[in-house]
Amino acid sequence: MTPRTDRIVVVGAALLDGGRLLAARRSAPADLAGRWELPGGKVEPGERPEDALVRELREELGVDAEPVERVPGQWPLRAPYVLWVWTARLRPGSAVARPLEDHDELRWLTPAEIWDVPWLDQDVPAVHAVTPYLAATR
Ligand code: C5P
Repeated sequence: MTPRTDRIVVVGAALLDGGRLLAARRSAPADLAGRWELPGGKVEPGERPEDALVRELREELGVDAEPVERVPGQWPLRAPYVLWVWTARLRPGSAVARPLEDHDELRWLTPAEIWDVPWLDQDVPAVHAVTPYLAATR
């Protein structure tokens, strides 16, 4: 049988507010715990990536966010996953309170603080691609 080689898209959010980027520290699984990522998760079959982004941010952070624009590029995670990133913003009246699942700490990073946290290796190129967008939302 031919091995299944289809990609599964994982959406990541560059949630921006006042020129800062939200980073989330993973609490599980053990091999990823303590490292920081752009919050997000797997797109479900038949789901639009932008809808998955909104759903994941609601599930993981309890926020009501809207995708703004796709950050060009795609970054391989462990097979068969590939990371696509959108910038996103909070809808009026929504605020990030605390992580609900998968994460145990959140930080809003200024451009000067972006590299202060140990990002997941696989998120590093995506975070590089996102940094130009921070200045634009200040
Ligand atoms: O959050 P969820 O388990 O749906 O994520 C699917 C996979 O994508 C996990 O292996 C997770 O570690 C990975 N991921 C990642 N970087 C992100 C978001 C998810 O490597 N920014």
